[in-house]
Parts: sequence; C-alpha cells; structure tokens
Amino acid sequence: MTPMDTYTFHMPTRILSGAGAVSRLAAECASLGRRPLIVTGRNSARACGLLDRVLAQFPEAAVFTEVEENPGTAVCDRGGLLCREKKCDFVIALGGGSPMDAAKVIAVLATNDTKAAELFGADKYAATPLPIVAVPTTAGTGSEVTPYSVLTDESQGMKRTVKGASLFPALAVLDPETQVSMPRSVTIATGLDALSQVMEGLVSRNATPPGDVLALDACRLVRRWLPVAVREPGSLEAREAMLRVAMYSGVIIAQSGTTMVHGMGYYYTLRHGLAHGLANGLLLAPMFAFNAREVPGKVAALAAALGCPVESDDPDEVAEAVAGGVHALFGGLGVSPAARDHGVPESVLDGYADEVAGDPYRFRNQPGVITPELVRRLYHASWEGAW
Ligand code: NAP
Repeated sequence: MTPMDTYTFHMPTRILSGAGAVSRLAAECASLGRRPLIVTGRNSARACGLLDRVLAQFPEAAVFTEVEENPGTAVCDRGGLLCREKKCDFVIALGGGSPMDAAKVIAVLATNDTKAAELFGADKYAATPLPIVAVPTTAGTGSEVTPYSVLTDESQGMKRTVKGASLFPALAVLDPETQVSMPRSVTIATGLDALSQVMEGLVSRNATPPGDVLALDACRLVRRWLPVAVREPGSLEAREAMLRVAMYSGVIIAQSGTTMVHGMGYYYTLRHGLAHGLANGLLLAPMFAFNAREVPGKVAALAAALGCPVESDDPDEVAEAVAGGVHALFGGLGVSPAARDHGVPESVLDGYADEVAGDPYRFRNQPGVITPELVRRLYHASWEGAW
C-alpha cells in the first residue's frame, strides 16, 4: 500500500436481520424511548398491515403517513413540526427510500430550528438529530445504512442530498416478511437500484477494499435471487437475499458515493417519471462498457459476478462481457434495457447530456474524462438499449 491508498470505512448502524425481526422492534428500541414518530409512505405500510404491527408495540407513538415518492422538502418540514409538537423521542421509518430519507430529515428538524431546504450539503445543522430506526420495505436504496437523505429540491426541480454522519440510522431492521407485498415493478426497480449502487461503488474513485468484496458478492446475489423474488414474491429466501444486497449497497455507497449513473439517471426519474432504480438500471450497460476502458480489472470481476466471465483484460472484451451480463439480467426479468421503451423521447437526451457534463458534481466520483460528447453517446446508447 502506498499513502495514496488510504481510505476510511465507517458503518455505525446496528443491524437486526431475519424473518419476524419486526416483532422485536420495541425491545430493540427500549433505550431510545417510548414515543417514536413513525414515518411512512401514503399507502403501503398501512395496506400490508406493517404499520399496525409496529403501532401495537408502541402505544404512545405518533404517526406521519404523508411521504410521497421522491419526497420534497415541504413534506419533511411538516413531519418535523409534528415530531416537535408530539415531543417524540426518536423516529422510526417504515417504507422504502422515500420514507427513510424523509424520516432522516424529520429527525434533524425535530432538534434544529430550520427548514429542510436549508439542509442540502454536508453537516448543515448544529444539534444532534433524534435517533433514527429504519425498517426498509423495499430492497434497493440501502438508506437504512447510509448517512444520506436524497430529496427533491422543488426550487430547482432536481434531486439533492442532505448528508451528515449523525444521519446513519441507529438501528436497521431487515425483515424479509416486510418485502412480500412489494409489486413486481417495485421489486425490479429497487433490485436494479441496489445493483447499480454496488457496481458504481466498485468503480468509484473512492472505492474501498471492504466495499469491493461486498460489491462482488452482491452482484452474485442479484443474479441468483432477483429473478426469484420477481417470479415468487413470497419467497422469504429471495427477499432476505435482496435485503442483504440492498444493505451491502448502502454500506458501499456510504463510503464511496455513487458515480455518473446516478448523475444521469435523475433526469429519467424527475422529467419522465421512471422509478429511481429502473432509471439507473437503464444506464448500466453503456456506463460500464465505458468503465471497462477505465478500470478493466474491476469491471472484468463485475462481469464474472454477473455470470459473464472474460478471459482477457482487453477493454473491448470486458465491455462486451459486462454489458452482456446486465442485458442477460434484464432479459431474465422481462424488462427492456432501452430507455425508449420506457417513455423517454430521444429529443431530450442531448440537453440532459449537456447539463450533466456541465456540472462536475454529478461525476465527482466517476473515473475517466467526462465530455459532453461522451455523455450524449452514453444517453443515446441507453435509449437504444445498446452500449
Ligand atoms: P419508494 O419511493 O420508497 O417506494 C416506491 C413505491 O413502492 C411506493 O409507491 C411505495 O408505496 C411502494 N412500496 C414500498 N414498499 C412496499 C411494500 N413492501 N409493499 C408494497 N408497496 C411498497 O422507493 P425506493 O426505490 O425504495 O426509494 C427511492 C427513493 O430513495 C428515491 O427518492 C431515491 O432518490 C432515494 N435513495 C436514497 C438513498 C440514500 O442513501 N438515502 C440511496 C438511493 C436512493 P408507499 O408510498 O405507499 O409506501
């Protein structure tokens, strides 16, 4: 190791995993208090009975069920007010990345006299947030183990991140029984989100050796179990495997950040309504064909983990192999890898490419030299389902 190889790896969240783990929530949270604010999305936590199971353990809880998908700052402000009014001791997020991310900022607003819109960036608050407990009901974002909250900045029509070491949840409860009500489309999109995060984490400029090990294992798990979770939604084995993948993906990106896949994918989500994970998934084949030329050894390992081993480290062969592995997965899931089949018009792509290429923050962790021409080519390849 040379001094250039130094890295940090920080993951303070306690993890409780296993079927039925939700029934141990009150016991696990005893040291945090008796009056949580339970934060959920608008329907699914109540509809699948999870909210009632958790409420039964916390008779003094307050409930906030207003979080929309891709939440904005306004809903967090309302949740923060409720948390103060009800004098809650801690926050429990029940849901996918949207409620988990909103809950993190609500926990900040409960102890800091500010607005969510003032929190974008790193450590933009003084007082320690309330403790956060995350019960993910999707297997994708890994937010249950990250120090990030990704919110829609309504003033800019863009996704922005609130970051702070105290946003790592104190506890993450990974219970596969919370997953079985997920519709097929959500299972696919969130599984692709987790895949995207582990692949991006491996090639990030801030990749870490422990993260790399998790990333390759996660790719093998996705290849084996995501199609099973889609085919057999009640399979607790498949659901548990995908929850593990999502958790790994969060642990990885908490160290490495994401790369240009996320920087580009937000346009598909915010301008065309594609689910966050699907949007990223549609960019994987072209983006990793590009990455094969920058970090061929790592991308060859990814290709092998996706079931497409390649003998040489010739970048062209590595690019074919990794893109082939991604497309084989899409084929197994019955999903087109072409953005044009998901409602994105070709006419918008060049404009998005110029915006991405003009904002170095969007590719700060991305290896290689990023030019407008390159980003245009990548968007067009994603649109066609090529690489
Ligand atoms: P989501 O937006 O939380 O949920 C998507 C949909 O799935 C919602 O309609 C939700 O319904 C439903 N749903 C969730 N769990 C369900 C279940 N078990 N059964 C039935 N329906 C269920 O989706 P997500 O992909 O998990 O989260 C995406 C968000 O996370 C984005 O805003 C993204 O930017 C963010 N993100 C954050 C991080 C991070 O580190 N913080 C990382 C990656 C992505 P309800 O709304 O009714 O619950």
